[in-house]
Order: sequence, then C-alpha cells, then structure tokens
Amino acid sequence: MPRPIVARIDPSALAHNVGVARAAAQDARVLAVAKANAYGHGLLRVLHGLAGADGLALLDLDEAARVRDAGFRKRVVLLEGLFESRDAAAAARYGADVVVHCREQVDLLREVPAGQRLGVLVKLDTGLNRLGFPPSDLPGVMDALAGHPSVRDVTLMTHFACADDGRDVEAQLQRFRASAAGLRLPATLANSAALLRYPEARGDWVRPGIMLYGASPFADATARELGLRPVMTLESRLISTRTVRAGDSLGYGFQFTADRDTRVGIVACGYADGYPRHAPTGTPVRVGGISTRTLGRVSMDMLTVDLSPCPDAGVGTRVVLWGDDNPVDAVARAAGTIGYELLCAVAPRVPVVVAPVVARAEGPAT
Ligand SMILES: *Cc1c(COP(=O)(O)O)cnc(C)c1O
Repeated sequence: MPRPIVARIDPSALAHNVGVARAAAQDARVLAVAKANAYGHGLLRVLHGLAGADGLALLDLDEAARVRDAGFRKRVVLLEGLFESRDAAAAARYGADVVVHCREQVDLLREVPAGQRLGVLVKLDTGLNRLGFPPSDLPGVMDALAGHPSVRDVTLMTHFACADDGRDVEAQLQRFRASAAGLRLPATLANSAALLRYPEARGDWVRPGIMLYGASPFADATARELGLRPVMTLESRLISTRTVRAGDSLGYGFQFTADRDTRVGIVACGYADGYPRHAPTGTPVRVGGISTRTLGRVSMDMLTVDLSPCPDAGVGTRVVLWGDDNPVDAVARAAGTIGYELLCAVAPRVPVVVAPVVARAEGPAT
C-alpha cells in the first residue's frame, strides 16, 4: 500500500471561487493568477477549473507553453516579463503578453521577430518598491513604446504593498491615477485583497490569486467569511497510536511533555511533505472529523496528534492537515506564516487526486 498521504483538489471549489472573484470584479475582467504551479495545486490540473476567468497570469514561459499546448486560448500574461533575449520570440510564439518593468525590458522588445507583436503591460511602482518604473519615468517609457513595431497594445499596471491591511492603498491609487491621467489605457491593479476590499481599485483587469484557491488574503477575515471554499485538502491517516504517561515527553527534542496520561496518534505527514516544521504544539488538525491539535516537533515523515478528544480514532483514521473544516490559514497562523506558503510548498512526493472531498472517508480505512 502506498503511504496514505494525498492532496485532494476539488475543481468545483475552484470554479466556485472564480465565481466569487468574478462577482467582486463586476465589469472588470479576471486575470486568474496561477504562478507557482497554480499556488501548488498543479497548473494543468486546475486549468479547466479556471476556465471561468478571462486570462491567466503566470511567471515562466514554460508555463505559458504548457497552457497553450493544453488548448488555453485566452489572454496569458507573464508577470515578470522577459528575462533574456531569446524569451522574446518564445513569448510571441505562445501569444503571451509581457510585463515591462524596467528599461532593460524595453530594450528586449527589439528581439521580438519581425512582423510579430506582443501585448505589453507597463508596470508602475507606486510604492511597493519592488518591480516597476517610478511614475516620473512613464512619459519616457510611453515614448519608447509609441509606434514600436513589436508592441501590439499597452496596459498600465501596478501592485499594492499592503492591500491586506489597507495601509497606503489610497495613496498608491492616487499615484497611479495621476500617472495614468490622459493616457486612456486599460489598467490592472487589484490582487485578491484589493479586489475584495477596494472596489475603486478594480480597473479593467483584476488579478486575484490566493482567493481562487480558497484561502484568505486577510488576517482579520477567514476564507469562509469571504464565501470561499478550500480547493486543496491535504489528508493522511493515523499509522500508530500509543498512550504517553504523565511526565513523559515525545518526539525529537522532547518538545512536548504530557501533564497527564494522553493517548496520541502518529500521522503519516511531515515536513518532507510540505507540512511546516515550525508548526508548534497546538496547531489545529482534524482527526476522524474531530478538531484536535498537534503535539511536539514535526519530523520529516511524521507528526503527532492529541487523541484526547477522539477516543474512537485508531490506525487508519483519516486526518485532515488542512482543507475541509481545517482552514490552511489557521494552520499557517499557528506556524507563523501565511496560507500561500503552505499551499505552494506541498512536496512533489505527495500524490494528488482531483476529486471532491468525500465526507464518508472520515472513518477508519477498511
Ligand atoms: C501574486 C500576484 C498577484 C496575486 O496576489 P494574491 O494576493 O494571491 O491575490 C497579483 N499581482 C501580482 C503582480 C502578483 O505577483
């Protein structure tokens, strides 16, 4: 029998979340952000679930090639643009629009083969201080692109630094509007957080990522409160149980000491599966449909859970590390990170099944 760990991907949850994004977007078009292998879900695996979007935002030409080969015909945007000369011909071949965020990338447009054109997204840095031109450079960049033989059309773009807590969104928006005034170009600004909380930042194309996968971009609102459904459920099973006596410690480093006799279960999931090693005692986990907590240090291939609230649990009982009824955001918070990181970090050794979560799989394996 294979190791019992599996990541289940629920396509109906994905389609539902795309619908939530579309409703929030109103008239704006939806560029579904599917970088990082669709936030760890598998780009091709989720492609049909993203069919309700108007385009995809990716990072690698290789990803653009894969979605084109799979028959995706809508807009594809490369969020970091071209990295080197030979990327220009490949972007043209795959019909990928490119972000242009620095002078060197304006120069790379010369490498587009004669007679072919790229859609270009000019990225403005309105405060994040990561990628993009300062607003004062925009007139010069627009001059360089005007009448450029390799440029089909231009979209203006920016990205918010703190849309999850609202700081500076208005100021960034003001800077963007001041730069864009008079240019009459389509605009793309909002990530998930801005899309959900700042309707005035919608622009023509919104760029939701994390919300599509059913996690919350906010610390102060759960995915469920936002009407989102988890797309990935990481689940495994108990492979052993034991009772540790009061005063006994368990696991590497003896990080947990029982204050009373405690029945515990060993789960086939560890940090080599992508479960965060930093998750401390008390991280939420579901065992046989009951909420409980992890105990002690996470090891490479296993972790330990408290079975005190789950007297019926035994070897084979299903364990949900995150997903259905155990939000990835809650696990991430306990581990001092965000849901994004956990979803992206699921290890290649974890088998993936595309299927809705089946509630009756809760009981012991038969
Ligand atoms: C990743 C990314 C997004 C999506 O952000 P979420 O917080 O996942 O919605 C949007 N725009 C850019 C430029 C990004 O890099």
